[in-house]
This record gives sequence, structure tokens and C-alpha cells, in this order.
Amino acid sequence: MIIEDDDGQVQDIHDVFSLQRNHFQPEQVGLTLAEAKGTLHGIQERVVHHQVDDYLQAQRCCSTCGKPRRQKGTHPLVYRTLFGTLRLDSLRLYHCRCQQHGPRSFSPLAQLLAERTAPELLYLETKWAALIPYRATSELLAEVLPLEHAVRTSVLHHHVHKVAQRMEGELGEERYLFITPDEHEEQSLPDPAPPLIVGLDGGYVHSCDQPNRQEGWFEVIVGKSITPEGDTKCVAFLHKRDSKPKRRLFELLKSQGVHANQPVTFLSGGGETVRNLQLYLNPLGEHLLDWFHLAMKLTVMGQRNKGMQKVEARDLITDVATQLDSLKHHLWNGNITQALRLIDSLQLLLKDDTMSLERKKLLKTVREFGGYIATNQQFIPDYGDRYRNEETITTSFVESAVNQVVSKRFVKAQQMRWSQHGAHLLLQIRTHVLNKDLRARFQQWYPGMAAESEPEMQVAA
Ligand SMILES: [Zn+2]
Repeated sequence: MIIEDDDGQVQDIHDVFSLQRNHFQPEQVGLTLAEAKGTLHGIQERVVHHQVDDYLQAQRCCSTCGKPRRQKGTHPLVYRTLFGTLRLDSLRLYHCRCQQHGPRSFSPLAQLLAERTAPELLYLETKWAALIPYRATSELLAEVLPLEHAVRTSVLHHHVHKVAQRMEGELGEERYLFITPDEHEEQSLPDPAPPLIVGLDGGYVHSCDQPNRQEGWFEVIVGKSITPEGDTKCVAFLHKRDSKPKRRLFELLKSQGVHANQPVTFLSGGGETVRNLQLYLNPLGEHLLDWFHLAMKLTVMGQRNKGMQKVEARDLITDVATQLDSLKHHLWNGNITQALRLIDSLQLLLKDDTMSLERKKLLKTVREFGGYIATNQQFIPDYGDRYRNEETITTSFVESAVNQVVSKRFVKAQQMRWSQHGAHLLLQIRTHVLNKDLRARFQQWYPGMAAESEPEMQVAA
């Protein structure tokens, strides 16, 4: 390696690596991984030491009066880079006499490299830790990078939290409403463009706070938005802990290019938390109850009815089945009044002084369903009409997001239990990675960092 100055004068020559090949065989074509790692490490070491020398040289004189600063010795500084951990000599200098205030001495290198991990390495660590388990991340990085020692999983964990917390710190404040009628009126005419579709659903993560497996789960809300052009992005958070869920959703919509008068259609299963969240976020959006959730509840009632065969009269079961079919038909066409009437008559049909356990259960389910429809009635559209117009009626597209965002990293084949705080933070990085926004975030923090150069790839985490 030859290092030249700006005028092309050779400053330094180093032997970095040598290569010897005797036979031309497939396994000896070009560099092996070990040779490549050694080479990169060798280059990295020389380049960084040279950069450090240059930088410290420039610090030796007072920046105000130009007099040389006195030295106060050196101390070792360990700096972790993509291509190896480097031990650098950090020079300590006395401040010049012309500086009256502040401490007497300082370490310019220690100040410049305050984070002892290079941004590029931090980026790779957090990105991969968000996609695959911590241990696998550690092994993967050690296998392909000249790291000397694998990164400890506790260090990866710490870095993930640090990066996520930095993101959290930059998240804007929560508001009661985000898209208000005033803002809406300021815009002249509503955008005639097709709406952005937003779906919200929940997934479950195994908790480390609970004594046993059955009760040890907590819910994660996952949202996915789809632009009319088909671009998708996702967001995830623990609504029980999160103080800014609306802000998060708002940022998701903003990053999808939504402006105040753009039509947005929200779909959800009708749970109160999620419904309030989207209502307050954008009261002017279109809020729909997901047909899939609704149909599931009808299916459950149908099954309970069939389950009564051994203990109840056949006529009753047939009558209930007919009414359930009719109920489904009315709901599919958005006919709420008729649907609520049918639910009432179903209850009358089922209610009796003496009832089998099965019948009691069905009656309870029907009653709960009545409450569910009544609460959500303003969000029930004419599904049939939407379906014929090829408009979205279900949040099934969110299910794949729940699977991608939560299940694959947090649930499947992972024996790990999660703290709510830790899961929330990792989810923030994971959604950034899946949305392909992590690199841009790092570039905001480290403007000299290059844009992503990796090829477009399908991440199968
Ligand atoms: Zn000075």
C-alpha cells in the first residue's frame, strides 16, 4: 500500500498482503475469505493510523494563536470498525495559555471518536440483529468480517437499544388529533386520487415478565399502509407502553407521502384501542370494520350452533342456522338495522328458562356479537358493493405484516422471551429495516456515510 500526499509525493509504503498460488483449481481462484479478511484488516489498520496521525498533527498547535500545544502523554483508544478493532494512540494535549477558560487538557481523538464503534459497523450490527437472532448476527458478522473476536450478544443488544432510543428521542410530540378539520379546509378540494389503505392488527410476543407460558404474552400492534401505487410500509409498537402511537402512525402516513386532504381508508378488527387510535389520528379518513374479523365471529357462532346437535332440538338448530345466514347476508350488504334486529330475534329464539351449557355459550356469543356490531355500526360499509368495485374490505394484508414484523423475529422457533421495553425498541429498528429506512436514518446522523450500495434483495429472516 502506497500513501501519497496531495502532490503525489510518496509518504509511506506498507506491505499489506502477499498471495501465492501454485495450481489453478476452483478453490484457489482469486482470494479466499481468510485472505480477503486479512487484506482488509491490513489496509484498514494502515489507513486509520495514517488518518489519526494527520488529524493529531493538525491538533498540535493552538487554533487561536498558532503556538504549539504541550503534550500530556497518550492513552490507548480502542476503536471498532467494520474491518477490525484498532488500538489507537490517543494524544492528550494541554490547552494553550491563550485559552483562559475550560479544562486544562483535552484528548482530540477521544472527543472525535466518542462513540467507540464506527457508524458503518453499528449500522450492520443493528440491521442484522433486527432481522435474525442476536447470536446468529454475531456469528454472521464474525464469519464475513475481519473482527478478531465475535461481537458479544450483550453488545449487540446494547447497540440496538442505543440506536432505537436515539430514534425514539427524535420522534415528534404526541397530539390529540393529527389531521384536523381546519387543516382539511385549508386545502381547496379533496384529492380525487384513490385512497391510501391503512390496516391495523395485533400480534403476540412471548413475555419474560410472566411466570408461565400461557399468560406470558403481550400484544404488539402492527400497521401497514399501501399507497394506490402499491408501495407498502409498516409500523409496530406496544400500545400499552407507547405514549405516542398516533405520532407513529402519522409518521408512517407522512413517509408514504400523505397530505392533509388525501383520502385515507383505515381498516381494523374493531378493537377499541386500535379504532380510537385511527379515529383521533384522522377523523376525516374513512374508517371501516374489517370483514375478515366480522366473518370469523359469524363462523364461530355457526360452529357453536352445530355443536348443540346432541343436546338441543333439530328445529332450533335449523332456525338458528337460517338466521345466521340471513345475518351474514345483511352485514355483507351493510344493512345494520336489519342485522341488529336479527341479532335480537336470535337472542329471543335461544333464550329459555332451562338451557344446555352449549346453548348458554351460543347465547352469550350472540349477545357479545350484538354489542360488537352496535359499537362498530358506523364503520360497517356495504362490503358487497366495495367488493364488486374491487375496493379493500379486509385487513388480511396486515396479517402478512404481523407475520413479517413480529412472528418471524419474535415468535417462530425463537425460544427467547422478551421484555416489553426491549421488544418495542427492536421493533422500531426492524420496521425501519423492512421499510428500507434505516440507512437513511444513519445518513442523517452521519452525513458522510454513503448511501446504501447493497443490491436489492429479498430478506428472508
Ligand atoms: Zn493559543
